[in-house]
Amino acid sequence: PAVVEPIHEAVLGRAAEYGDTVALVDGVNGTTVTYRQLDLFHRRIAAALAEAGLRKGDVLALHSPNTVAYPVVFYGATRAGASVTTVHPLATAEEFAKQLRDSSARWIVTVSPLLEVARRAAELAAGIEEIFVCDRAEGHVSITDMFTSTAPEPDVAIDPSEDVAALPYSSGTTGVPKGVMLTHRSIASNLAQLEPFVPHGGGDRVLAVLPFFHIYGLTALMNAPLRNGATVVVLPRFELDTFLGAIQEHRINALYVAPPIVLALAKHPAVDGYDLSSLEYIVSAAAPLDAKLGEACSRRLGLPPVRQAYGMTELSPGTHVVPLTAENPPPGAVGLLLPGTEMRILALDGSGDLGPGEEGEIAIRGPQVMKGYLGRPDATAAMIDEDGWVHTGDVGRVDEDGWLFVVDRVKELIKYKGFQVAPAELEALLLTHESVADAAVIGVVDDEGNEIPKAYVVRQPGHDALTADDVMAFVAERVSPYKKVRRIEFTGGIPRAASGKILRRELRGRQTPADGPAATGP
Ligand code: ATP
Ligand code: MG
Repeated sequence: PAVVEPIHEAVLGRAAEYGDTVALVDGVNGTTVTYRQLDLFHRRIAAALAEAGLRKGDVLALHSPNTVAYPVVFYGATRAGASVTTVHPLATAEEFAKQLRDSSARWIVTVSPLLEVARRAAELAAGIEEIFVCDRAEGHVSITDMFTSTAPEPDVAIDPSEDVAALPYSSGTTGVPKGVMLTHRSIASNLAQLEPFVPHGGGDRVLAVLPFFHIYGLTALMNAPLRNGATVVVLPRFELDTFLGAIQEHRINALYVAPPIVLALAKHPAVDGYDLSSLEYIVSAAAPLDAKLGEACSRRLGLPPVRQAYGMTELSPGTHVVPLTAENPPPGAVGLLLPGTEMRILALDGSGDLGPGEEGEIAIRGPQVMKGYLGRPDATAAMIDEDGWVHTGDVGRVDEDGWLFVVDRVKELIKYKGFQVAPAELEALLLTHESVADAAVIGVVDDEGNEIPKAYVVRQPGHDALTADDVMAFVAERVSPYKKVRRIEFTGGIPRAASGKILRRELRGRQTPADGPAATGP
């Protein structure tokens, strides 16, 4: 099932056929781009970038929130032979400069509100040829003006199996973000693998609220829908009322979100103020979603169960999806293995392969595996073994029917007196308490040197009476004694990455001396 095709062909190969169908809508100002325009404009961008001096193999940094121009620039750049490194729009100049240096980027595309950060990053990093802006800014070539470029289309020979199309950085949840080299082949193959499980039709209307710069948004909200003639409504950031208003106004039928948005849909009072009847299904990925939370969300909205998907940047990104056609997927399952993908569950003690029902590290092999981490052969070797298996660092188990359940990351399991406690399980339980708005769990070391679970808890507005003892008792009544939460700290918010993941690393850094040294895992 490997697809050996450049990504712009894999996605836009049928664009001319979709013609005047609307491909993209700006959810803020209503600007639309048809498929015919998307096809034409990205070719013009390729031509203009080549005329400006961009050569095959150059790295172009795309530094923008979601806009209708984002995919035009992305596919235009890959058509010109560039590797696109996608940048967090909220990155500081220092963070951006680090990514520019690490990726040896030569070109930047930004938007005028972010121009100062981009300029500063370019100064810090050096080696940048030119900064383009999508809209307009004094002294910079505008991408919009390139849409009418008369330059000849470059004749670039792309080798889809070798050439890097996208260079996203991993979320940095567990450490420094790493540049992940994804070839045209690995991305195009994964799109084809996902299709039978989440078939997009021409009539689909999806809401691009997750960022395109992260591999989940890039795949589920840009590549997959645009390949199939769907309409993508683009929002620059998640803000609950705008998001709900956009679903209502644009009659969105397909939602791809991360667990924090499922949480809002399940619990937030604002949801009742909108007509969300156009919704047909919801997919959640990128972080653990508790079965009860998923059920609360689908019940409230009158929808079929929230479907989960599982993957990682290094896997382009998908390996498992709960098929839209599955009528009663087991609660909590992240999905079935995608076609053309192999999986093993490996014992954490190194004793080999495990069978159904047993928990171990998930290992994956398939055409969607990355080429490697840019400039980090050691990290690559630690991730991909000699036989091509990716060791995901995630703990999971498979049932007799092939459904995968993800437990947590190997490194984040808390070792309480020899027992293993998964923070994700406790977080899910805490969220079922009516006075808890949000929660995160990490391991801290107590006075006796034991690693113990500590919960950070955000109270629901108006539920100030909730005490630490209430929370500990609530958990203790529902789990085996070794899993009890033994310390509580109330907080105003849980730190999360843009992809929706809890930044436990940041919580560890926040500890007071009473918590002892940070627990870092094995
Ligand atoms: P870094 O590797 O830089 O520390 P990261 O692993 O968070 O960051 P991503 O590639 O964005 O970067 O995330 C992949 C990880 O997200 C997976 O390894 C897994 O831990 C988690 N994940 C993805 N989907 C799910 C899911 N459905 N359920 C539970 N966890 C998930
Ligand atoms: Mg990772």
